[in-house]
Amino acid sequence: MNETQLEIQKVLERFRLEQIEPYAEDDDRDEKFRIEIYRALGALGFGGMTLPEEFGGAGMSYEDACSAFEEIAKSSVAYAVTLSVSTMVQSILNNFGNQKQKEKYLPALTSGQEIGAFALSESSAGSDASSLKTTAKKVDGGYMLNGSKCWISSAGVAKTYIVMARTGGEGSKGVSAFIVEDGMKGFEYGKKERKMGWRASPTRELLFQNCFVPDENLLKEEGFGFKVAMSALDSGRFTIGAIAVGLSQRALDEAVKYSLTREQFKQPIFDFQGLQFMMADMATEIAASRLMVMQSAKNLDAGASDGTLAAMAKLKSTDTAMKVTTDAVQILGGVGYTQEYPVERFMRDAKVLQIVEGTNQIQRVVIARSLKKNYES
Ligand SMILES: Cc1cc2nc3c(=O)[nH]c(=O)nc-3n(C[C@H](O)[C@H](O)[C@H](O)COP(=O)(O)OP(=O)(O)OC[C@H]3O[C@@H](n4cnc5c(N)ncnc54)[C@H](O)[C@@H]3O)c2cc1C
Repeated sequence: MNETQLEIQKVLERFRLEQIEPYAEDDDRDEKFRIEIYRALGALGFGGMTLPEEFGGAGMSYEDACSAFEEIAKSSVAYAVTLSVSTMVQSILNNFGNQKQKEKYLPALTSGQEIGAFALSESSAGSDASSLKTTAKKVDGGYMLNGSKCWISSAGVAKTYIVMARTGGEGSKGVSAFIVEDGMKGFEYGKKERKMGWRASPTRELLFQNCFVPDENLLKEEGFGFKVAMSALDSGRFTIGAIAVGLSQRALDEAVKYSLTREQFKQPIFDFQGLQFMMADMATEIAASRLMVMQSAKNLDAGASDGTLAAMAKLKSTDTAMKVTTDAVQILGGVGYTQEYPVERFMRDAKVLQIVEGTNQIQRVVIARSLKKNYES
């Protein structure tokens, strides 16, 4: 870790232990999101980590930002994910928005006062996102949106939404991206999902019924929406990886600490080689995941984004999170399965990391496609 990352880790470790950890279990049970925690992270300068200072961002590298996501995820995947999606929305606005759009929407997001959400998925268009059906029909002065979006993180608490809708024919080239504001006429929230994990992060449907969105809220130009969505996922994927690494690291910490104090057969259970090997494997997988995530971030920082490595990093780190959190529950035995210890929450939070921002099957599709391309040429 470099000096900046050590400093980030120090600041965020203190913050999470004082301000997130005390509520994490109860808020998971009650499905409660606390905007004040999010805003406090913003006040510390983490609202728009990778965004330029000109628009209120911290101007951090993606590599440094990954160390921040990792640290927050040690206490709450829910807040880490909220921040990660909002940062992705800000990157979209920064990369594809015009000056007026950036000035209007970025400062409230980079300061952490408001949250951004990303709306691509629909009930019939998940992995096959380019088949989305929400329409945006051109009308005088803007577009009329009709349709719905599914499983949208931060829906209801976010103020700014990047919504992908169809302005043209079938396929990815008919998709455009719009900035939709909370409160716009014809834009409502559907039911809040009851989830296995990420329970403090609200997930809802977005419903559009003759929702008028002015011309000035179109991002870039018609037909550019799928490119906007896919480019966002390039950084989104390794950011999810960083969150997976933080979650895994915390699960390992809990497992090691517990196994050093718990005694069976008149000795600490840590001394059983069967458990030592499990924990050695956990530590090794976490280290490998972290290296892949950080290398993906470094590539993007250097202007040489590598989509295949980002897919590998997401795949490796989230599969690792699932395995490590499951093993942590095993190492704690009976109490691991109860809410007395947080490892059962970690195991539930890990599962969806294998599903969002492209399922791990889709990551394998991306990796295999690049293998084929390399070996064919
Ligand atoms: C908690 C949560 C938060 C989310 N947040 C957001 C958000 O903020 N914004 C947003 O737009 N979306 C969000 N999503 C949606 C998420 O991105 C989708 O669930 C995901 O892309 C998978 O789509 P699907 O659920 O329709 O599954 P499907 O696409 O129906 O897939 C079902 C199964 O088939 C497999 N499969 C599909 N295609 C292939 C293939 N070609 N090869 C092999 N296997 C395949 C999948 O891997 C999966 O195992 C969220 C989802 C959840 C659960």
